[in-house]
Amino acid sequence: MALLKYICEDCKHVYEELTTPDKKPACPKCASDNTKRYYQGKCYFGGRGKGDSCSGGNCACCKGCSG
Ligand SMILES: [Zn+2]
Repeated sequence: MALLKYICEDCKHVYEELTTPDKKPACPKCASDNTKRYYQGKCYFGGRGKGDSCSGGNCACCKGCSG
């Protein structure tokens, strides 16, 4: 079990769930299951353009990152 962050694709609500990585908890706000893991990399905190620590296609937090 781990406290994982998820983002709801429908209402963009970000929430934390105590769950396992293979599970996708439904959004507590709108009950949608259209959710995905919310990754926080250095790119999110350090600004865009560097791309050195962006997790690529799985990076939900910096879609504008050119890396
Ligand atoms: Zn939602």
